[in-house]
Amino acid sequence: ARTPFIAGNWKMNLDHLQSIAFVQKLAWTLRDAKLDTKAVEVAVFPPFTDLRSVQTLVGSDDLPIAFGGQDLSRFDSGAYTGEISGAFLKGLDCRYVLIGHSERREYHGETDADCAEKVAAAIRHGLIPVLCVGETAEDLERHGASAIPVKQLREALGPVQRGQELVVAYEPVWAIGSGQPATPQQAQDVAVTLRGELAELLGDETGAATRILYGGSVKSSNIASFMREPDIDGALVGGASLQLDEFASIVQFQK
Ligand code: 13P
Repeated sequence: ARTPFIAGNWKMNLDHLQSIAFVQKLAWTLRDAKLDTKAVEVAVFPPFTDLRSVQTLVGSDDLPIAFGGQDLSRFDSGAYTGEISGAFLKGLDCRYVLIGHSERREYHGETDADCAEKVAAAIRHGLIPVLCVGETAEDLERHGASAIPVKQLREALGPVQRGQELVVAYEPVWAIGSGQPATPQQAQDVAVTLRGELAELLGDETGAATRILYGGSVKSSNIASFMREPDIDGALVGGASLQLDEFASIVQFQK
């Protein structure tokens, strides 16, 4: 069975001091709520400059919170000013790394070919890629919901071998930060299509084992409706992941 995965993408919010306060309070809140940490995996994706602080806190108190980078370089080291190597993320105990978030695609010109190189780099360094895919409103109108996410998935997973652990986040661009989430049925339909593609690309076993998340205006009031869908295994949460009580309630979607 796929363990539900609830992840907060902080984007460019919370500095290293705020990150310590937030993660500490989140851990206390989840402990007080007696969250079954085997039944749901919780992760945060802070800015790079927070990762050392988060690592120290999570490591010293053995908190049940995973973390990862929001991006990585496709290169391993060298003259690439401003880039962050997957080796550095691994060295800070990151378990995951986001790849191909729509904001990277839109504001930094990331292509599917770049994503494929980043997926390969993540795997080289022992990081689990969280590949983000999703269509814009215009894509939706022109091509329907699945065509673009499927193309993004196929192109980015070129370098991946069968059996590789990865996570896919379906985030329709029109639903991000808009307060207008996809319906659970829409998200489920795309998730089924993506799972079929994963099975075709990486084999049935990997298709069945890979967690597919929904992202885009997830809140405590709608998380349960997404989690009820059989092919949605969790959520990638933006804005609501910055509010402690909201995020803690989303993590406890079963209650
Ligand atoms: P919102 O939850 O703010 O819509 O953002 C979703 C997102 O982009 C997560 O990666």
